[in-house]
Amino acid sequence: MLNAGVIYILGAGIAGLTLAEALREKKAQYKIFEKEGQVGVYASGKNAGMLRTYDTDTVLKAFTLKSLEYYRSKEPSYVECGMILKPWEIDYEEKAVAERAFSHNRFKGLFLPHNGILEPKDVLARLVTTVGSIEYNSPTQLIVGDKKNIAAIKVVDKEIQLEKEDVVVVAAGEGAVALSHETNSVLELVAYRRTLYEFENTTKQNGPIEWDEEASVYFRPSGKGKTLTATAGEQIPVEALSQIDEVDDEKAFRIFEREFPFLNRENLINKRTCRRLTPLDNRPFVGKDAALGNLYWFTGLGGRGMSVSPGIAPLLANLLLGSKESGLLTPFAPGRVI
Ligand SMILES: Cc1cc2nc3c(=O)[nH]c(=O)nc-3n(C[C@H](O)[C@H](O)[C@H](O)COP(=O)(O)OP(=O)(O)OC[C@H]3O[C@@H](n4cnc5c(N)ncnc54)[C@H](O)[C@@H]3O)c2cc1C
Repeated sequence: MLNAGVIYILGAGIAGLTLAEALREKKAQYKIFEKEGQVGVYASGKNAGMLRTYDTDTVLKAFTLKSLEYYRSKEPSYVECGMILKPWEIDYEEKAVAERAFSHNRFKGLFLPHNGILEPKDVLARLVTTVGSIEYNSPTQLIVGDKKNIAAIKVVDKEIQLEKEDVVVVAAGEGAVALSHETNSVLELVAYRRTLYEFENTTKQNGPIEWDEEASVYFRPSGKGKTLTATAGEQIPVEALSQIDEVDDEKAFRIFEREFPFLNRENLINKRTCRRLTPLDNRPFVGKDAALGNLYWFTGLGGRGMSVSPGIAPLLANLLLGSKESGLLTPFAPGRVI
C-alpha cells in the first residue's frame, strides 16, 4: 500500500460508503463527511433498488456483474427475482432469452432471470455499520491551494489542512456540481428529475421487476410484498443546483394508469423526488481530477448507482492506494473529452 495519508470522502451515499468499505478491507485510513444528519436523504435512499445487469454499454455491464457478485455474497436484502423488460429496441445481447407476459397481460417482454432487487435503505444501514464512524451534519467545501492541489477542506466552520499524502474523494452525488464549481473542474453533469412512488400492493404481486422502458416506468414489490415501488419521470434535464419542488404527478399517473392500471393513485402511500446526475456519455466520473493532484471523483452515477458502485469501489480504492490494478477505470476518467 503506497498511500499512507488520510482519504477524505465527501458524501455517504452508495458511492462514498462502498468506497469506504473497500478501503476498510485494505486497512487504509479514511474519514467520511456527510452533509446531512443521516444517510439516504438523496438518490441512494430514494431509488428503486433494481440491479440492472442488461446494458448496451459493455463497460458498465461488466461493473454491474461485479456488483451482482457483491450483493449475492454480502447483502441480505438482495433478492434474485429476474426482470421482465420491454425495451425500446431489441438490440440487447439478451434478445435470445424467453418472453414473458407483464402482470397486466397487455404485452410481453424479455425475461432476464439474472437480475434482482434490493432494499436501498437496508443496503445503506449495513454499510453504515461496516464503515465505522461518519461525521454527520458536515457539509464540506474544497479550498484550492496552488492550483495543483486541494490545500484544505472546510467542514462547516472548521478548516482541515491537507498533508502531502492526503487525498479527497468527492462522492457527493448531486452535491458534486457545487464542488466542481469550487475547483473549476470541468465535469459535464446533466441532472434529470426522477420520482419514486410507493403504492399499496393490492394485487399481492410478488413477481419479478417489470420495466417498460418505452414508458420509462418500472416497478417491483417491496417492503415484504406490502408495497409496489414504481419510478417514473421523463429524461428532461432540470437545474442541477435548484430546489426540486414541482412534480408533474398528473403525467406520471396517466402513464401508470395506461401501462399498469393497478398503480392506482388512490393506493399511493408515498413519493420522493430527487435528481440523477449523468455525464453526457452516460458513464460515471471515477478517478483523479484532470488538474488537481490530490482530488478524486466518484460521481455521475445516473440511474445505475446501486448497480455499479460496489463493482467500481474496490478499483477506486486500488487507485487511491497507488496500486496499478485500477486500469479498468480509464473509461471513467474525469478528464476525458466527451
Ligand atoms: C427515483 C430513482 C430511482 C433509481 N433507481 C435505481 C435503480 O433501480 N437501480 C440503480 O442502480 N440506480 C437507481 N437510481 C440511481 C441511484 O440511486 C444513484 O445513482 C445513486 O444513489 C447515486 O449515489 P451517490 O452516492 O453518488 O449519491 P447520493 O445518494 O446523492 O449521495 C451523496 C451524498 O453526499 C452528500 N453530500 C452532498 N454534498 C456534500 C458536501 N458538500 N459535503 C459532504 N457531503 C455531501 C449528500 O448529502 C448525500 O448523502 C435511481 C435514482 C432515482 C432518483
